[in-house]
Amino acid sequence: MSERLIIAGERRDAADGATSETVDPATGEGFADVARAGPADVDAALTAAARAFEERGAWDPNPAVRSRVLHRVAELVADRAEELARLECRDAGHPVVDARWEAGQVARTFEYYAGFADKHLGQQVPTQDPGLDVVLREPVGVCALIVPWNFPMLIASWKLAPALACGNPVVLKPASLTPLTALALGDLLVEAGIPPAYVSVLPGPGATIGDLLVGDRRVDKVGFTGETATGARILRTSAGNITRVSLELGGKSACVVFGDADIERCVDEMPSAVFANAGQDCCARSRILVERVVYDDFVARFAERTEAVVLGAPGDAGTEVGPLISAAQRQRALDYASVGQQEGARLVAGGGVPDGPGFFMRPAVVADVDNSMRIAREEIFGPVASVIPFGDEDDAVRIANDSDFALAGSLWTGSATRAIRLARRLRTGTLSVNTNRSVRTETPFGGFKRSGLGRELGPAAMDLYSEARNVFFAED
Ligand code: NAD
Repeated sequence: MSERLIIAGERRDAADGATSETVDPATGEGFADVARAGPADVDAALTAAARAFEERGAWDPNPAVRSRVLHRVAELVADRAEELARLECRDAGHPVVDARWEAGQVARTFEYYAGFADKHLGQQVPTQDPGLDVVLREPVGVCALIVPWNFPMLIASWKLAPALACGNPVVLKPASLTPLTALALGDLLVEAGIPPAYVSVLPGPGATIGDLLVGDRRVDKVGFTGETATGARILRTSAGNITRVSLELGGKSACVVFGDADIERCVDEMPSAVFANAGQDCCARSRILVERVVYDDFVARFAERTEAVVLGAPGDAGTEVGPLISAAQRQRALDYASVGQQEGARLVAGGGVPDGPGFFMRPAVVADVDNSMRIAREEIFGPVASVIPFGDEDDAVRIANDSDFALAGSLWTGSATRAIRLARRLRTGTLSVNTNRSVRTETPFGGFKRSGLGRELGPAAMDLYSEARNVFFAED
């Protein structure tokens, strides 16, 4: 299998002919050669995007047309959901059941922002000067959208759909490890009717073409998801041009469990909260804080449930956890599980590598973790859960908030008054009470502290990809 870049809606080889092999994480074998973009490709994509935007502004001035085309994208994604899911399953190692859900969510994201294209309203503002003051919402301009390897197709849709609903040209850069669904989405955008010059997809290394995109004066907006260190670098690179930047970065989310919660249901949901996508999830509940009165019981049940997790081939319908993305990522997770034990914590389930090919690791539960340990402070991005005991509400809030990250979190309690009290005190971008799901298309998503800048999804994303312009009409 071989794949070419998309520049201004057209499939092309990289200008210098470079390619990279993409690997199936379940086998460790390469299975597709993908064109690798270089500086000349970045230049060609940005030249087309900037020219189109300068000449025409929004890709269609009529928001009803933009809405119809984005609905068409949603339909095409839904029609090809199985194909897209299978591609993600192979390229990113996602269990097929999860990949099908992701494809459904991609369709839903385009549907949601299709509905927004003609409902993103400006304002008329009463002013002290006599006249009529109108605030217009206009597309921000050329958008460089840079996405990671953990949820390649889903995270791309969170950026593409609002950026396109506002009328902007997009240059999408998927991670080198997982380029395939981004390219497939690029084709669908053009097929649905978005003018070719407004769509480019450039797989390639972040350190070269990512940096070039971010530092280019023709880029008006960078929408980025990835590591906190990369986000910081993007802020520095973009600073000279005052480029608009939004960042969705790392997490070390806490799940706070009180003794009065439905422990059985909570334990049952824990594996998907922390081990889904082999723990390579910015929202993974990698710190599980449990009230001392139920701590031993919780640890025993969670360990038992974890041992029963079905680790297997991503293509099998019964698989709950698949491989990690690479040998290096797996080694990192294994190292953290060891470091935790060296620091005095106790491995109570899983860990280790099963026999056979691919980058699999048995999900690990590490108990008796102290929040000062590295395993509790650093983002592991692998299937390693830390369980931390706490005494009372103040203790729980102190530990949960004592983190460099503040992306997502959950609170499990049977007390409504406690839930209200603590929802105000737990400082995370999203908090889920008596569930662990963090992401909903319709609501804002993003973090405080080193977890990011700005909010994606929901109505908030329309503001990320548009600018307010003020026009005042004097009365006489
Ligand atoms: P990464 O930062 O290494 O790479 C992300 C993307 O940025 C890739 O496309 C990469 O090629 C590109 N990139 C790398 N260096 C760049 C540079 N100097 N300039 C521009 N682009 C550059 O992250 P990753 O390892 O692919 O993804 C894992 C990270 O993403 C984790 O930290 C995770 O928490 C985070 N993440 C956050 C969210 C969220 O919504 N907050 C969601 C998913 C993943």
